[in-house]
Amino acid sequence: MELIADLHLHSKYAGACSERLVLSAMAQTAQAKGIGLIATGDFTHPLWLKEIKSTLEGEAGIYTIKGGGPDTKFVIGAEVCTIYRDAGSQSQKMGMFSTDGSVKKIHHVMLAPDLETAEQVCKELARYGDVAMDGRPILKMSASELVERVMGINSRNVVFPAHLWTPWFGVLGAFSGLNSIEEAYEDQARHIFAVDMGLSSDPPMNWRVSKLDRYTLLGTSDAHSLQKMGRKATIFDISNKLSYDSLVAAMKGQKIKKTVDFYPEEGKYHYDGHRKCKISFTPSQAKKYNNICPVCRKKLTVGVLHRVEELADRSEGYKPSDRPGFVHMVPLLEIIAHVTKKGIGTDYVNNAYNLLVKRFGTEFNVLLHADAVEIEETFRGLGKAIENVRSGHVNVIPGYDGVFGQIDIFRERPYVPKGSGQQSMSDYIGK
Ligand SMILES: [Zn+2]
Ligand SMILES: [Zn+2]
Repeated sequence: MELIADLHLHSKYAGACSERLVLSAMAQTAQAKGIGLIATGDFTHPLWLKEIKSTLEGEAGIYTIKGGGPDTKFVIGAEVCTIYRDAGSQSQKMGMFSTDGSVKKIHHVMLAPDLETAEQVCKELARYGDVAMDGRPILKMSASELVERVMGINSRNVVFPAHLWTPWFGVLGAFSGLNSIEEAYEDQARHIFAVDMGLSSDPPMNWRVSKLDRYTLLGTSDAHSLQKMGRKATIFDISNKLSYDSLVAAMKGQKIKKTVDFYPEEGKYHYDGHRKCKISFTPSQAKKYNNICPVCRKKLTVGVLHRVEELADRSEGYKPSDRPGFVHMVPLLEIIAHVTKKGIGTDYVNNAYNLLVKRFGTEFNVLLHADAVEIEETFRGLGKAIENVRSGHVNVIPGYDGVFGQIDIFRERPYVPKGSGQQSMSDYIGK
């Protein structure tokens, strides 16, 4: 069975998240988009866990809205931030890894097999930080301690690094000071079998790093609003009936048809740069400046592409034979806004979205499966746009230092290829 899943997103209780992120609205939105399974997000938050318990019912770790409603399935999930001073672990003291005494801040996604277990995890983690403060709580513990505690409660729990490559909170991000999953999770790395790629990296980027071969690459939205749900997702191939265990088995066995990926250049940490100084650099340009901003002379925010190149032991374009495929996609609302040159929040764009979803069943049907001619017949200009998005005939001005990339579906802007040597200062300035 093919199942589109989004395993990392947030509720209204997480910082900078929409008030509309409540379970019933999440279920409805997922249904319109064609996402069969979503994580609840934020189960460590006591009030949200209460809502989950009163709103959802289920068995075998898969939940739906009580008393009917959308058929969207939920799995119990959350994200936490561990923060600790790296004073040198046992393995580091043995000289296996370097230690620099720096503070490590890492985000992790967790899944729990049922509500009872989630409650126990919540109780345990409350010893390490204020879980009621934010849907994504800050816990004073190391990454390995987190995994040890969580797996100690129930060995069916799942932990994997969130947005693996992002500069500040990703395990392999530029500021983590870590170069491998093993370095981050130490002896508990044996429990890690998947990674969340984040928006700024796609499978081909991850394939270049051979030490990631054993990890399942997951696409997740990390949505902070209903609209952003499923902007990146994973299409699983579930062999038996969907249960928590069959989902985890599919994750472990890389039983994934493909991931539906953001164009990684669209992610807000793809290139290196400084938002305030309007500096956007390719990795080679940043290296020329020793990763120092030519405007303010401070350290640049080194992005995901740069970090991938640092850790890659395979050349660009490497394609393994045994990994799930992927497809680059752009959310339908964005495509409609682009075609009509109207704002994403406008009634016009929303009405067009609803018309298309009604005609083709779900957003993912429109994006992935529907015939381009039929789409064109339904909404003029959109068939060509979707064809371009599907085939990669788009230009993207890459994102950097927290600025999202800008996609041009009709290639109206000049294309700046990856790693190109730009000549003048004005070429470096982010548009
Ligand atoms: Zn995060
Ligand atoms: Zn600067």
